Amino acid sequence: MAQIISGKELAAKVKEQVKTRVQALQQRGINPCLAVILVGDDPASAVYVRGKEKDCEECGIESRLIRFSADATQQQVLDKLEELGKDDTVHGILVQLPLPKQIDEHTVIAAIPPEKDVDGFTPVNVGKMMIGQPCFLPCTPAGCIEMLKSTGMQLSGKNAVVLGRSNIVGKPAAILLLQQNATVTICHSRTENLKEICAKADVLVVAIGKAKFVTQDMVKPGAVVIDVGMNRDSDGKLCGDVDFDAVYQTAGAITPVPGGVGLMTRAMLMQNTIQAAETLAAE
Ligand code: NAP
Repeated sequence: MAQIISGKELAAKVKEQVKTRVQALQQRGINPCLAVILVGDDPASAVYVRGKEKDCEECGIESRLIRFSADATQQQVLDKLEELGKDDTVHGILVQLPLPKQIDEHTVIAAIPPEKDVDGFTPVNVGKMMIGQPCFLPCTPAGCIEMLKSTGMQLSGKNAVVLGRSNIVGKPAAILLLQQNATVTICHSRTENLKEICAKADVLVVAIGKAKFVTQDMVKPGAVVIDVGMNRDSDGKLCGDVDFDAVYQTAGAITPVPGGVGLMTRAMLMQNTIQAAETLAAE
């Protein structure tokens, strides 16, 4: 039976540390604040934003929600970003994705000031991550690394396979694993011999968005499996990209869904926000 890597426990620890750092800043008269821009009325986005507000409240971080209707123009969003960038009382800025069709995601993300980019999505932070400079790391892959480290596993020299190559999860997860000196393979929808490649992994990070795609025969006995997926199974129950019940029998450690990577992602956002506030306060 695998060790369960509890996102709940790890996230609680991270948020406790954030809370202490928030209090330290508040004693100096600085009130850490995260501004979230939400455009349109996508129900899933509304749920994510509410989660972020709740996390902020728990950590003592002020959250400021800026809502735009679904027909907002790109310029309106860019103007708001400029305003928030200049606002000294705002330390972190996040634009909730996806954006409506009339707004170009890349243009908007690039307009977030890098020093307030707590999602780590701007080209400046992505570039810095790539060359190993201090920067805001994207929350989901950063959370995956923390979860891997929590098992006590030495990543150096290990065979790590990342399933999925999205800009927000797969690619940055691969870079961060490489920085930990793992030997990294990235798989995607065109990969040949996917099963064989996965079955050789000491570490398997899965982010493809396909319910229970990774089966027991794709996982090496004892491997550490990080399941980023968030899907609904045929009964409408929340599940990951990994067939948890089967893989749990042979893996060394595994993250559950729910209660895994999602919670750590949220905690890492809080960590980035307090980091932003501390850095801006030191300037
Ligand atoms: P995405 O942008 O849709 O990318 C999916 C990736 O998986 C693509 O690179 C795609 O390959 C690859 N893929 C799809 N089907 C495949 C297959 N049959 N075999 C091999 N590779 C395949 O997804 P994402 O944004 O990275 O999200 C992935 C999952 O993680 C989703 O379930 C999402 O909800 C979840 N997620 C969770 C969190 C969290 O906090 N827990 C955060 C972000 C995302 P191609 O590039 O070749 O198309």
